[in-house]
Amino acid sequence: MSLAVIATAHDFRRACQEARRDGELALVPTMGYLHAGHQSLIEAAALRAPTVAVTIFVNPTQFAPGEDLSRYPRDVDGDLHKCEQAGATFVFVPRGPEEIYPPGFQTYVEPGFLAAPLCGEKRPGHFRGVCTVVAKLFALSRADCAFFGEKDYQQLAVIRRMNADLNLGVEVIGRPIVRENDGLAMSSRNAYLSRDERGRAAALWKSLKAARDAFTGGEVQPERLEEIARQKLAEGELRVDYAEVRDPIDLQRPQKADPTSRLFLAAFLGKTRLIDNGAVGEQG
Ligand code: AMP
Repeated sequence: MSLAVIATAHDFRRACQEARRDGELALVPTMGYLHAGHQSLIEAAALRAPTVAVTIFVNPTQFAPGEDLSRYPRDVDGDLHKCEQAGATFVFVPRGPEEIYPPGFQTYVEPGFLAAPLCGEKRPGHFRGVCTVVAKLFALSRADCAFFGEKDYQQLAVIRRMNADLNLGVEVIGRPIVRENDGLAMSSRNAYLSRDERGRAAALWKSLKAARDAFTGGEVQPERLEEIARQKLAEGELRVDYAEVRDPIDLQRPQKADPTSRLFLAAFLGKTRLIDNGAVGEQG
C-alpha cells in the first residue's frame, strides 16, 4: 500500500507542512469505520487539492459518560484501504488519545448558541469536544480546506462558525448526505443495528419524506410537520430523541417553514442513536 500512515501529532504537522509546499492541502476529519459517505468526502477533497489528509480518531472529549465511546466500531485496516481507494494521500491515526490530549491538557473551545439546541441539548459537552479536536486538527494541518458531511448538519454549522470566529482560515466545505438504497443515511453506528433494527431504521428517511410531502402539499406549520415526522418514527418503533424544524443558518425555530427549513431527526433503536436531516422543500 502506497498510502502513508502517520501515528504522531508531530509527524502529522511535518507531513502537512511539506505537502503545502506542493499546493493546497485538503483535510477530511473522521472517527473511522469508514463507509461510502466518508469516501465521498475524500473523493471531493481529491478533486479540490493535490494532497488529501484524512484523520481517523475516535475523539473521547465529544462523548459523554455512558455514551458509546468504548464500543465505537473500529477497523483501521479496512479504513486505510477505503482511504486509498478514494484518493487520500496520507492518514493520521493517532497512536492513542494522549497524542491529541497529552498530560496537562486543559484548553477547550466553547461554541456558542448554534451548539445549544438539538444534539447540543441532548448531548451536553458534545460540540465542545468536537470544536476542540477540529480546532487542533486545523492547527496541526493548517489545511487550506476541510470537508464535512451534512449528515452532521449542526456540527458543520458549529465548525463553520468556530472557523470564522477564531480566524482559523480554513475553507469549510459541506457535502451532501450519502444514503443506503432504502434511504437510511450511512453511518458507522449503523453497524450496531440488529437485522430487525436495520429494517426499522428506514423510518428516519420515511419520516423526512413524509414531512417533505406534507410541505409540498401546503403544510407550513413547523409543529404539524414535526408531528408528521414523529408519527412515521413511531410506526417504525423508534424512540424519538428530537424531531424539529429549524432554520438552516441560525438553527432557530421558524414561525412558518419555507423550502430551506430543515427537519432535524434523532431517534433510538434500542441503544443505538441515529440522526438525519434534510430541507423540507427538497425532493427525492
Ligand atoms: P464521523 O466519522 O461519523 O465523525 O464522520 C466524519 C465525517 O463524515 C463527518 O463530516 C460526517 O458528517 C461525514 N459523514 C458521515 N456520514 C456521512 C454520510 N452518510 N454522508 C456524507 N457524509 C457523512
